[in-house]
Amino acid sequence: MFDLGGRLAVVTGCRRGIGLAMAEALAAAGADVIGVSAALGETGSEVAARVGAQGRSFVPYRADLSDREAVRALARWLGQRDRPVDILVNNAGTIRRAPAAEHSDADWDHVLEVDLSAPFLLAREVGRDMVARGSGKIIFTASMLSFQGGITVPGYAAAKSGIAGLTRALANEWARHGVNVNAIAPGYISTDNTQALREQPERNQAILERIPAGRWGRPEDLAGITVFLASDAAAYLHGAIIPVDGGWLA
Ligand code: NAD
Repeated sequence: MFDLGGRLAVVTGCRRGIGLAMAEALAAAGADVIGVSAALGETGSEVAARVGAQGRSFVPYRADLSDREAVRALARWLGQRDRPVDILVNNAGTIRRAPAAEHSDADWDHVLEVDLSAPFLLAREVGRDMVARGSGKIIFTASMLSFQGGITVPGYAAAKSGIAGLTRALANEWARHGVNVNAIAPGYISTDNTQALREQPERNQAILERIPAGRWGRPEDLAGITVFLASDAAAYLHGAIIPVDGGWLA
């Protein structure tokens, strides 16, 4: 039921953090992986090694997802390959922190482009082919801030709320065509992205007090849900936005 043997998965933002854990988990379940990142470099070979250790193939693809032309080129490249994409994990994301009154146009545009527009464009292009074939899985990485705005992250919160709406909208259209569109909404996960928060003792303590599980999440905590959503076990799940947050007390 959870076997992904013979499936091809595309994971964006797989160079490190949550995306790396997702790519590794999908490969462990049997999927071959195409990994998309802005800069693969040395850590790219770490992804290749960790996916390869699962006995699956890993193809790196470098693309800056803030550049719409690069996103289009990626979609074209995927469409021209002889093997269709079975699983699209739209995970890449970025955050810019500044009080709302000081949030610049440039920061707003950048975050919206990477966190909302690029996932939509990719889902549209890959999803069109999935609809034609009558099967496919699209997984978005949302956030607990999809539901609760947060502080000093207006662009990010807007983009991630948008991802929640997009997940439901695509699911509503494509469920009848055999395509499952769902999202994972992580809470506080220990990655490079959140290191600055952990380094502030008071902030870190305040966060921990609201996590019943008593610890930050780890990228590996997202592995099981990713495999589940990518698998036949999730065949009747459409438009779900699943929190993985240690029970976060909102
Ligand atoms: P991270 O910073 O460790 O990794 C982000 C990944 O996205 C990297 O591989 C990076 O190369 C890629 N990326 C960023 N900008 C890109 C661009 N312009 N073009 C191509 N790739 C780009 O972050 P993470 O914590 O692993 O976050 C992964 C996803 O999970 C993001 O969508 C993030 O918003 C979301 N998320 C994270 C947390 C958390 O607590 N860490 C919580 C909720 C949601």
